[in-house]
Amino acid sequence: MHFMSGCDSHSVRGKAIMNHLDRFHEILRHRGMRNSAIHGIRRMLAYRNITLFGPDMIRINPMSAICNHRCSMCWLQTIPEDTRKNLIRQDQHERMNAPDYDRLLRSMPAGLREVNVVGGGEPLLHPEIHSIFRSIKRRGYRGSLITNGTNLTPELAEDLTNIQWDHIRISISAGDRDTYHRVQGVDRFDRLIRNVRILNRFRSTKSRPRMHLSVFHVLQRDNISNPSLLFGIAEQLEADFIEFDPLIPLNPDLALSHDELATAIELLPKTAARSSVPSNVSEIVSNLRKQLEVNDIRTAFIPARRCSVGYDQCFIQQTAMCIPVVSAMKRWVM
Ligand code: SF4
Repeated sequence: MHFMSGCDSHSVRGKAIMNHLDRFHEILRHRGMRNSAIHGIRRMLAYRNITLFGPDMIRINPMSAICNHRCSMCWLQTIPEDTRKNLIRQDQHERMNAPDYDRLLRSMPAGLREVNVVGGGEPLLHPEIHSIFRSIKRRGYRGSLITNGTNLTPELAEDLTNIQWDHIRISISAGDRDTYHRVQGVDRFDRLIRNVRILNRFRSTKSRPRMHLSVFHVLQRDNISNPSLLFGIAEQLEADFIEFDPLIPLNPDLALSHDELATAIELLPKTAARSSVPSNVSEIVSNLRKQLEVNDIRTAFIPARRCSVGYDQCFIQQTAMCIPVVSAMKRWVM
């Protein structure tokens, strides 16, 4: 005779519900409406404190503060020294390792589509990052990575190609060695170029579908007067897309002047028109215009983007601390 415990009966019922949800996702996927439908349902239910689907994307920070660069515009340069030391101690002694990430990914609820591997600090400095990438793809998620690229070794590039990694965004914010040195605080421009060239060899020979590569530039005093260099480096690196971001001047000394903003607004669209690499220039120029008008980066930045964070994303820190969808919505939207 088989006695079913309360937990077992819950888990059978739970599995039946999950099967229905999976079937529902499948129908929506076939009709090409899956993501917006799920977003709408999440949004509606969040107001009633009901969670039916998990997040669309989770962002993991394998390293929250340890980085091998010292970018002047980075949040890491502005936090108090004891906060920084505490985060570094957590990165070293309390961080999740590959088996923890594997368990985490195994327990993800329905609805999750993408795992975004990102900083805090530099994710490629996690000693088990190869295994973490493999776990993400083994579970069938879309994998995206944000990195400074200097630890994107040939072995890692080959590994990522073999597991059909989906997207890498490389933060550069410069188009030449001197600017790179000034912006990033380290002299690793040549190493970065070498790494990306090797990645491109794997991308063109082994990656099916081809891994998407984007170049990321934070617009700032050191790079804003010569956007052709920013487009040029993206072309040289065979990027599929250039993503520009306005500088958030955590350090007020870095804030752009009226003239610098006006120069960027004039030059960026002209340079974009000559470039073979698509970019978000029109979005960014309208953001810069808004900055000029209201003279306040926060007012300019926030309405320029549809913010889905409160509904669709979940942040999981290196210590497994997490901000789930519904509570995130309550904290940030209500
Ligand atoms: S590479 Fe990224 S995390 Fe590291 S210092 Fe620069 S902006 Fe910060």
